[in-house]
Amino acid sequence: MPYVITSLCTNDGACVEVCPVACIHTTPGASQFYIDPDVCIDCEQCEIVCPVDAIFKDVDIPVEHAASIDLNAGFFRRHKAVRGPVPVQSAWEMVHRAHAYAEANGLKVATVVVDEAGCPIAAGRMGGADPSAAELAFNKAYTAAAFQVATAELVPQARQPWLWSLAISHHGRIMPAAGGIAIAEGIAIIGAIGVAGAHRAEQDILCGQAALAVLESAGH
Ligand code: SF4
Ligand code: SF4
Repeated sequence: MPYVITSLCTNDGACVEVCPVACIHTTPGASQFYIDPDVCIDCEQCEIVCPVDAIFKDVDIPVEHAASIDLNAGFFRRHKAVRGPVPVQSAWEMVHRAHAYAEANGLKVATVVVDEAGCPIAAGRMGGADPSAAELAFNKAYTAAAFQVATAELVPQARQPWLWSLAISHHGRIMPAAGGIAIAEGIAIIGAIGVAGAHRAEQDILCGQAALAVLESAGH
């Protein structure tokens, strides 16, 4: 039961700042923001901050704004329609690029690239990396894809009840630990990368950022 933005929206963007899964978007020139119903986790944070009460849970929406349910969903159908997941070749190059960065900095890590649904495309573990790193890297990538954000942004939310209930429903795969990065093309998430095994979380992030350069040079 996702939340929906109606035509009452005044485009100030306040809700975007609080959404933990980054599922509120618009485009230049659009008259309002929209919520992706496939990603919204019903946390109600946007409804709380909206200064003009433009946001409703879909089941509670006033009848005069009922058309907004399809308008919100339609916005994302249009903008996501032509996107595909990270190409397999690029995913493998990202794994190699992350490991090259790690090697150059004396680190041993594992890296996993997943598609937008959190399914693995490419995965690798450097010789000498901790055996658990591969599983952790997958969990970070899965989490970044599910929440459509960098997992570092979820760390402050780690003790929130809604996050724990999601972790349970995702069979423990949700991991609010730094090192997962969502991969976006326009407003569409086309996958995510997760890195684990470095001494510090910031080093995992740097390995992942080094890998993203593969997509930048490919024009994504
Ligand atoms: S209810 Fe929560 S997850 Fe859904 S759009 Fe609002 S802030 Fe984002
Ligand atoms: S907080 Fe309300 S008015 Fe502001 S962008 Fe979001 S829906 Fe629109």
